[in-house]
Amino acid sequence: MHETDHEIRMLAEADRWRSRDLAVLWHPCTQMREHPHTLPLVPIARGEGAWLIGQDGRRYLDAVSSWWTNLFGHAEPRIGAAIAAQAGRLEQVILAGFSHPPAVELAERLLAIAPRQQGRAPLAKVFYADNGSAGVEVALKMAFHCFRNRGETRRTRFVALENGYHGETLGALAVGDIPLYRRVYAPLLAEALFAPSPDAYAARDGESEAQAAHRAADTLADLFERHPGEICALILEPRVQCAGGMRMHHPDYLRRARELCDAHGVFLIADEIATGFGRTGTMFACEQAGVAPDLLCLSKGLTGGFLPLAAVLATQDLYDAFLDDSRERAFLHSHSYTGNPLACAAALATLDIFVQDDVIARNRATAARMAELAAPLAQHRHVAQVRQAGMIVAFELARDGRRDAPFDASERIGLRAYRAALDRGVLLRPLGEVLYWMPPYCIDEEQLQRLAAATATAIEEATACA
Ligand code: PMP
Repeated sequence: MHETDHEIRMLAEADRWRSRDLAVLWHPCTQMREHPHTLPLVPIARGEGAWLIGQDGRRYLDAVSSWWTNLFGHAEPRIGAAIAAQAGRLEQVILAGFSHPPAVELAERLLAIAPRQQGRAPLAKVFYADNGSAGVEVALKMAFHCFRNRGETRRTRFVALENGYHGETLGALAVGDIPLYRRVYAPLLAEALFAPSPDAYAARDGESEAQAAHRAADTLADLFERHPGEICALILEPRVQCAGGMRMHHPDYLRRARELCDAHGVFLIADEIATGFGRTGTMFACEQAGVAPDLLCLSKGLTGGFLPLAAVLATQDLYDAFLDDSRERAFLHSHSYTGNPLACAAALATLDIFVQDDVIARNRATAARMAELAAPLAQHRHVAQVRQAGMIVAFELARDGRRDAPFDASERIGLRAYRAALDRGVLLRPLGEVLYWMPPYCIDEEQLQRLAAATATAIEEATACA
């Protein structure tokens, strides 16, 4: 009886939080009309490893790493302790004119692990921002401003990829191509040039993934040819277009893109905000193509998922173009919390864990297990493809598994799958008709099995009327 009383109290407590929330909060990426009826709001009391624990005591397996931020599990004690220790020393200091050890040390360590390319000068300088979109803005502004400082004032255009995503601020949205996020704001956005996505899922009949990548690169080459001296940078998500439905491409595309950028004097901006820190199997996705960008954007996993922070890594050449007696030639961009010491301390602890726990090697075994568990789901009638890049597995749903017969958005397949999984204690957050696994790296065998079982049920229930 006591247990039941306790449960009732917890359910009531969760309800109270739901009401208080809806009275005052406006949630991100949400049609608020859908709360509270269509979508249950899930108040979370605490996190523990791959688990999120609700105010009502229910447990949810965080299969999306809380928007791809969390790396080693929630409330990871080593990161928590590093933040606490730093908070006792210095919580924040202006980074203009002032400096602090965590910011310096983190920059040193990021530069030491950044992707390298033979014959190319390594990334040499780090600029901090405080979230992914802000990091993208920094990279875009740097690329543009660098050419201005060099006197190449005609270089004002950015090239981005179709189906790409780089964040929600206006500059980042301008180089994004997800209609759902972009369409409304289109009148406000600077006009970017879009090149076809090298997406392997969109390969033509009989075409290999590499061939699809080369076809897309050929079109990119044409685009560069048509705009000589006008382009500042190409921005892309290496290996996986994450928000665009975890669409993956062959590394040849990155090699070709790098060569084309070099041939046309265009900067390559690699947005590894989602793919960085081991998500695609290597520390950074660029490594799989052996290319290094001119600007590298990092965020999300950078702090292990504890605090917002972004880092933009740049080459010495690019940096040097800003050195002058004039303030206008300097990069005057700033955010109040730039290089926040607590966030830098969290990032340093995160990099320590990569070494201490040999994370990349351990992930190889986890990724292999994820592949085994995902394979049977490929047999489902409405699964068109199961694809994987390291710790990311995606299930593309389509009618009768036919690539040429996508489900209609109005069928709300993703929403149904989300609900079905949530009922089984698993947080999946499909991207349209794409279900995916992007779990914290600490996910264990039992949790993986639960994830696979919940995904099977979610696919079944979501497509039941199809
Ligand atoms: N770039 C990529 C590739 C992303 O996946 C995201 C976030 N999903 C962003 C940029 C934007 O990061 P933030 O949400 O921190 O602004």
